This record gives sequence, C-alpha cells and structure tokens, in this order.
Amino acid sequence: MQDCIFCKIVAGDIPSKMIYEDDDVYAFEDVTPQAPSHTLIIPKKHIETLLEIGDEHRDLMGSIILAATRIARKLGIAEKGYRIVTNCNKEGGQVVFHIHFHLLGGRQMKWPPG
Ligand code: 5GP
Ligand code: ZN
Repeated sequence: MQDCIFCKIVAGDIPSKMIYEDDDVYAFEDVTPQAPSHTLIIPKKHIETLLEIGDEHRDLMGSIILAATRIARKLGIAEKGYRIVTNCNKEGGQVVFHIHFHLLGGRQMKWPPG
C-alpha cells in the first residue's frame, strides 16, 4: 500500500534493522523500543488490523507465531520469557495500520498492561 510505513519497510524504501525474513513474514527492530528486546513481526502483505484476518490467513498467522518463537530463541529471550502484543484500533493502542506483532523481552513484564 502506497502510504504505509511498514509496506515501505518491506520494500526496502525505509531502512530497518532486519531480524528475520521468510516468504511471507518480515521482522525488524522497533525504532522506539519498549523493552531491552523489541522486535516487530509483520506480514509482507498489507493487512490493516486484526479485524481483517479471515480463514485465508490461517497459514500466515501460524507462520508469524512460528517466526516469533524462532526469533525469541535467536535473541536469547525464550527461556526467561517474553510477550507478544498486537494492538487493534484506537483504544487498543494501534498507531500503524499494517498489522504487526510486538515481541518484547529482556525485562520483567507487568500485568495488567497499560
Ligand atoms: P502500534 O502502536 O501501532 O502497535 O505500534 C507501532 C510501532 O511501530 C511502535 O512501537 C513504533 O515505535 C514502531 N514504528 C513506527 N514507525 C517505525 C519505523 O519507521 N521504523 C521502525 N523500526 N519502527 C517504527
Ligand atoms: Zn502496509
């Protein structure tokens, strides 16, 4: 999508620090990390919010979770623990409308989240 920051990152038009890539998924460091380890995992294809996910995205969603597990291991945060967060729409805290999964680790997480 033309004006989407994350589509531009996938295309290489905006630079990013790549952590992982496969045919359908791209992962990169968040520019404003909220934890010592903060990776964004996104589908290469533009999907605005979780609400657009349908049956046709089952494989893609599985690929994203598998990528998250691989990345958590690779970054050394798997054993101590980590968190995956997806914000949906305004009250959910979504700012970038290309679906993304925050993978956070490297510190004790709190509950409830803010
Ligand atoms: P949201 O609030 O939509 O769930 O999260 C958007 C995330 O994208 C934020 O954590 C923000 O720091 C990150 N972000 C926004 N623009 C860029 C960018 O140009 N590069 C990178 N690496 N991260 C970005
Ligand atoms: Zn996009």
